[in-house]
Amino acid sequence: MKKPRVLIVEDESAIAELIAVNLRHNGFDPVWAEDGAGAQRELDAVLPDVVLLDWMLPGQNGLTLARKWRSDARTKAVPILMLTARGDEPDKISGLDAGADDYITKPFSTQELMARIRAVLRRRAPEQAGEAVSIGDLNLDPVTHRVSWQGAPLKLGPTEFKLLNFLMRHPERVHSRAQLLDKVWGDHVFIEERTVDVHVKRLREALGIAGALVETVRGVGYRLTSEPHLQHLAVRET
Ligand code: CA
Repeated sequence: MKKPRVLIVEDESAIAELIAVNLRHNGFDPVWAEDGAGAQRELDAVLPDVVLLDWMLPGQNGLTLARKWRSDARTKAVPILMLTARGDEPDKISGLDAGADDYITKPFSTQELMARIRAVLRRRAPEQAGEAVSIGDLNLDPVTHRVSWQGAPLKLGPTEFKLLNFLMRHPERVHSRAQLLDKVWGDHVFIEERTVDVHVKRLREALGIAGALVETVRGVGYRLTSEPHLQHLAVRET
């Protein structure tokens, strides 16, 4: 099987090298570009399976590059994982708005980085409506309207079912409350964002132990993950 190609766009060679070593060790094929121009040359030559994009770059920054690649027919479907040293909510949201699939805040553990890369690769499979979906031991079947955890059936309300269906079909990705309202509830301008929190709480209660898969991303929103409670540490921006 061909090794997944990962384009690392990072101006700090020490960080890029550390990431590349870990990627190679985990069965990936890393390619390094130190700025937007170099990355563009790589993208024009061979489309990678994932782009790891540093936010702070000389010349065009990561945000500008993400927007550019998202609007280009050739690169718009390539998953982008943003690397950022910033922890501010508006920055995270603008990263996601610019078209990044996910972001990782430095410092991050290489373990977490590998998990996130595997996650974006997994969800490249096209979404097929009507098909059952599984995340770990959690299963959801939209046809029979059944949810189970390790084979045991779970009872969910209709809104919680729709919410879980959406989260399971877009796992490992952070969704803001506004995005969830839009995707799960539809165009209901009079529903407050707090409503999302209420239904997430109900969903977690209904899921029992599996409720841990629904993570709160502070200041941003929610994410369904198959690998909760990852440890942080290791890579620091200098
Ligand atoms: Ca940088």
